[in-house]
Order: sequence, then C-alpha cells, then structure tokens
Amino acid sequence: MKIAIFNAREYDKRCLDRYNRQYRHELHYVDTHLDEQTLVLADDAKAVCVFVNDPVPRSLLKRMRSQGIQMLALRSAGFNHVDISAANELGILVANVPGYSPYAVAEHATGLILALIRRLVRAQARVREGNFSLEGLMGFDLHGKTVGIVGTGKIGSVFARIMHGFGCELLGTDPVESEECRKLGMRYVNFETLCRNSDIISLHCPLLPDTRHLVDEKAINEMRDRVCLINTSRGGVIDTTAIIRGLKSGKIGYLGLDVYEEEENLFFEDHSDSVISDDIFARLLTFNNVMVTGHQAYFTHEAISNIARTTLENVGEFEKTGSCSNQLIAR
Ligand code: NAD
Repeated sequence: MKIAIFNAREYDKRCLDRYNRQYRHELHYVDTHLDEQTLVLADDAKAVCVFVNDPVPRSLLKRMRSQGIQMLALRSAGFNHVDISAANELGILVANVPGYSPYAVAEHATGLILALIRRLVRAQARVREGNFSLEGLMGFDLHGKTVGIVGTGKIGSVFARIMHGFGCELLGTDPVESEECRKLGMRYVNFETLCRNSDIISLHCPLLPDTRHLVDEKAINEMRDRVCLINTSRGGVIDTTAIIRGLKSGKIGYLGLDVYEEEENLFFEDHSDSVISDDIFARLLTFNNVMVTGHQAYFTHEAISNIARTTLENVGEFEKTGSCSNQLIAR
C-alpha cells in the first residue's frame, strides 16, 4: 500500500526503510507537518502516517476522506491528537502502536526522578567548573518513600516494578486495577488520597476529557509539601499555570516534565537560534528544581524499531483484511 509518511525524522526513516524490506509498502515521505494545506502532498496514498505532533481534527479527516485516504497509521501509542469518533464516523481506520516499549518511558521517568532528587545536573555543572562543594546538593533516599502512580497500564506497571525495586511503598489510582501491581503491594486509592499521601507522583494515564488538567490548583494543594511530580504522559494532564504557582510557593519541590501542554510547535525542532515566545514555558525553565526533556521518554533503539515494525504491520493487516487489531474505536 502507498503510505504518505508525514514529518518523519531521519532516525524514523532509517528504521521504516529497514523494516519495509519485509513489508514492501510504497513509502512516500513528506517532510512537513500534516494539515489541510499539506494533505495534498500525500498524492494518491491510501494511508497517511503521523506522529504525536500533528493534530488530526474532524475537518482534516473529512478532507482525507474526500481524497480517498482509508487509513491513518499513528506512529505513537497516545492518540489524543486525533478525533477518533470523527474518524470512526467517516470510515477512516485509525491504528496506533500500543506498548512499543513501556520500559523506555518508565525508565525515563525514573531518570528524571533521580536527576532531580540527587541534583545531578547541578552536580555535573559544578564538577566541570572544578567546584567540588556539596553545599546545595543534598538529596533523599528513594527507599521507604511513597510513590503515587496515576495510571497503572503498560507504562505505569513497569514503573511500579522499578519503584518496588528501589524499596518504595506504592499507591495507585486507575479505573482498571492491575493484578501485577497489586502483587507488588500497590494500594489502590482515589486520586485525592494519592495526592495527599505520596512523596513522589508520576503520571502515566492518557490525556482524555476527564484527565485534562487532572493536576490543577486543588490537586496541588492536596499534595505533600515539597512533592516530586513527574509527567511523562501528556502535557494537558497538568495545568501548567497552576504548577508554576506550586513551584513559586515551594509546594512542588521537584518537577520533571517530558511533555508540555503547548509542545506542538516547540518540541522536536531546534529553536536554539530563536527566542522562545511561550512565556509559560520560558518561566518553567527558570526554576532550578525543574527538569524538562522534549518528549524523548519513548526515544530508545528498541522503541523506535517497534514503532516502525508495528506501523508497517498495521498497514499490512489493513491492506490484507480490511481491519486491524490495533484499530482505535471511540469510547
Ligand atoms: P495504557 O493504556 O496501557 O495505560 C493507561 C492507563 O491509564 C490505563 O490503565 C487506564 O485505565 C488508565 N487511566 C485512564 N483514565 C485514568 C484516570 N482518570 N486516572 C487514572 N488512570 C487512568 O497506556 P500506556 O502505554 O501505559 O501509556 C500511558 C500514556 O503514556 C499514553 O496514553 C501516552 O499519553 C503516554 N506516553 C508518553 C510517551 C512519551 O514519550 N513521553 C510515550 C508513550 C506513551
């Protein structure tokens, strides 16, 4: 099948080309974002392939339908950037890549925690300057601390296993409880109780209407003083302006973000020669107890390979059978 692959980076292309020797699709790379103006560049492709930073609203799906596009293949697990119910109505099959490497994201969340609570970035900068003073570098043991995990699906449960290995107490909140997490000793509680009782809170739920701004002013006020908050899920799960107030008041002691509400026109590009015009994001970067990575939690060899393979497999399955086991249906 001819697939128009939008906005792929060189590392994506290398992997897709390698796995495509087996699948033999016609890969048509379009080096720009997908939108209503660029859709025409898909030519006569029957499938369009996008990553997380290309929003696909109903209006774009309608145009895709009239251009004869039958499938939208996501190179991601998250799908909050696509209007799934519109796609279902219009008969465009949308497939994602679930669980391509829960380890990648869970391990990155762990890296953010360790870097923050042991002040590794500040320590590295000091040592490079020949300053070996330990003043201001005191951390705390993870062992014995309570870690609250919001969303104990594929990534959340790998993260739970890692935290269990550090000797942490586990609290979880999720409408669907995980047997595996329970076996690790996780206690399931509601979100408010989790906020009140956790030293570290890590977000691993999807962005849905009911999780948008789940972490708001009220939730932050419930949290323990100097809480360590980690978000590797989706930026919209937290209200960034409320977070900034929490940082200013000292309520939030450590903040690790891999995702940001307004990341769409910021992340995955080099802006080092320009001014960041997003004042909220710029303010976040001024705190020395905040660490931000640009949506790189998924970015490992293993994950990129799995994304490429499953994306091509999804299109192959659709081509052969007219359906796909990773098809997304609106709830
Ligand atoms: P998953 O579907 O396996 O798990 C998500 C869990 O969240 C499910 O168990 C679900 O029941 C739970 N959930 C839903 N609503 C909730 C709520 N209101 N409160 C608490 N839990 C709730 O998904 P996953 O593979 O573990 O991925 C989780 C999220 O991580 C994705 O949706 C995506 O947004 C994000 N993600 C980020 C990256 C990255 O690079 N930063 C990479 C992959 C995925």
